[in-house]
Amino acid sequence: MSVLEIHTAGDPVLKTVCDPVARVDKKIRRTLKDMADTLYASHNGIGLAAPQVGILKRLVVIDLQDGSGLLELVNPVITKKEGSQIGTEGCLSVPNFEGDVERATYVEVEYKDGKGQPQFLKADGLLAVCLQHELDHLDGILFTDKAVTIMPKDPDE
Ligand code: ZN
Repeated sequence: MSVLEIHTAGDPVLKTVCDPVARVDKKIRRTLKDMADTLYASHNGIGLAAPQVGILKRLVVIDLQDGSGLLELVNPVITKKEGSQIGTEGCLSVPNFEGDVERATYVEVEYKDGKGQPQFLKADGLLAVCLQHELDHLDGILFTDKAVTIMPKDPDE
């Protein structure tokens, strides 16, 4: 188990557009595993993108902690978006703030899984929001860049 250091806002690594993964090999699988370990070791995290741990590759792990399990996404791309909603988001890289962000209510995503197999996902609710938040990280975008309001986070939450 390797828990990686989470980079926080102000670090230029979070403002960088990440490179696509050419091949899902042993090194990429190891990175996905380390990212999952880091996510599970975090306080209330449900998603983590590679640049948050200083790796400029298009990799995301998500676990909504609702029993649906771990989702590993390599080179994810949103192929369809519908609807609009505003909800409150936080980020492991912006530990002391949360903000209200406008997102699509429904997304479709194409990606490769941890075995390198092409996959397709339809999502709404929290998963749709989480996917949009994490995929933004791969393009160097933080929720604070998009938020309509930003407020200090309640330290007890
Ligand atoms: Zn984030």
